[in-house]
Amino acid sequence: MDDCIFCKIVKNEIPNYTVYEDDVVKAFLDISQTTPGHTLVVPKKHVKDIYEYDTEMAEQVFARIPKIARAIKNSAPDIKGINIINNNGKVASQSVFHSHFHLIPRYSNDDGFSLNFSDNSNRYNEDTLTRIQNNISKHLEG
Ligand code: 5GP
Ligand code: ZN
Repeated sequence: MDDCIFCKIVKNEIPNYTVYEDDVVKAFLDISQTTPGHTLVVPKKHVKDIYEYDTEMAEQVFARIPKIARAIKNSAPDIKGINIINNNGKVASQSVFHSHFHLIPRYSNDDGFSLNFSDNSNRYNEDTLTRIQNNISKHLEG
């Protein structure tokens, strides 16, 4: 992909702060540094989003994430946790359409990153949850 910013980073055509790379992935500092050490892991092969991964590619890319997460965790004693985020689609805040995983080290509850999971459990009864469950299950590939 000629006009893809992450493909350009993979090829070192634009400057980047790489912390790890091999034949499958490249991990480099996110320019925004939401928290210090905020790192992106991208597959070297251009895929737009999670839906474009085949099983082999998923195995290869996902297998590398814990090692990079451990390196981030061990890089500073004040890192208390890490959020791993993968945005898919504009509505889900994806802005670069070369799939990537955010590894965001967490230092405290007010360190610049926040995530809100609404609790809507009181709006769902057993029937509704079962319908949702079955609807997702029946769309699984073989
Ligand atoms: P998304 O919103 O698609 O999940 O995340 C895209 C991320 O890419 C953003 O956090 C943004 O800061 C980062 N980003 C965009 N352009 C560049 C760049 O040129 N270099 C680096 N290192 N990160 C970038
Ligand atoms: Zn790309």
